[in-house]
Amino acid sequence: KFNFSAGPAMLPTAVIERAQQEMLDWNDSGMSVMEMSHRGKEYMSIAAKAEKDLREVMAIPDNYKVLFLQGGASSQFAMIPLNLMGDKTSADYINTGMWSKKAIAEAKRYITVNIAADTSEGGFTSVPTQAELKLNSDAAYVHYTPNETIGGVEFDYIPETNGVPLIADMSSTILSRPIDVSKFGMIYAGAQKNIGPAGLTIVIIRDDLLGTASASCPTMFNYSTHAENDSMYNTPATYSWYMAGLVFEWIKEQGGLEGMAEVNKRKADKLYAAIDATDFYGSPVAINGRSWMNVPFTLADAGLDAEFLKGAAERGLVTLKGHRSVGGMRASIYNAMPEEGVDALVAFMQEFASKQG
Ligand code: PLP
Repeated sequence: KFNFSAGPAMLPTAVIERAQQEMLDWNDSGMSVMEMSHRGKEYMSIAAKAEKDLREVMAIPDNYKVLFLQGGASSQFAMIPLNLMGDKTSADYINTGMWSKKAIAEAKRYITVNIAADTSEGGFTSVPTQAELKLNSDAAYVHYTPNETIGGVEFDYIPETNGVPLIADMSSTILSRPIDVSKFGMIYAGAQKNIGPAGLTIVIIRDDLLGTASASCPTMFNYSTHAENDSMYNTPATYSWYMAGLVFEWIKEQGGLEGMAEVNKRKADKLYAAIDATDFYGSPVAINGRSWMNVPFTLADAGLDAEFLKGAAERGLVTLKGHRSVGGMRASIYNAMPEEGVDALVAFMQEFASKQG
């Protein structure tokens, strides 16, 4: 089956098979990774290798810390203002969809939020241009969501912020293509799309942004706590961290992020071409804002939605129902979705359209 879920999402089959082989006895240790102390030498080697591989895959500069946390990307919505406001009173937020909105609502509990741009009027179907961003030079940071998982809207550029730290929720786009980490103050992502199983949250943060948390910031919410303890201040999500390490190895075998980008672009191009080929289907998203990872599309006759989903499921194409707030369909085509999965979806779409159209 090809699973088009937005997350938790497909993992590479090779990774699942390897985890299965190692499940009962990791590397002759006589233990499953799940049973290991996070402070034992076996697990420490697994954790260090995962970080090393992620640094290599993303070309993370040495002046950035990589943290392996819990609490999901959603916890970051509060941790960001608590850690990064310093002596500033406001932060800039770009509002491009449901996840930006959640980040904004949480930040407002701690800091004055300036909305630098807001695409809600158009139903969150486009990306604001650089010229449209109303950025404040006195903001503590600028926050944005490079890829909105629900709306399927992805920035085709990295905002220029004139020295103000740029913070990105990359939950649904991280590892899909190369990015220049040095352009960001901090990148964060929940694991359950392109990284590994749920339960792990990755934070990549520039050194100079550590150590400025507000006095009331809880210890577990303070990035310095985790940076100073190699993400082992308390028990980390050991198994998810291990699985993420297997995914990073797999990405290296696929030619790194250049390799991922090549396949991801091809998959997305094929799917959008199928949507655009006929009036039977439609994409709500402006062409320059179309996501490579989450592809929402509608049927001109929404009355056929249920039949479409049923026919797709019969061919092993599952979890295509759009988010309840958007309707229609959504195909999430993360790194682990093979190109054959997209080919099978495209073939089904063509067949369904010619039968019903
Ligand atoms: N941000 C984005 C862009 C997401 O897609 C999601 C989850 O789908 C989240 C944040 C929330 O992540 P979590 O469930 O890890 O808190």
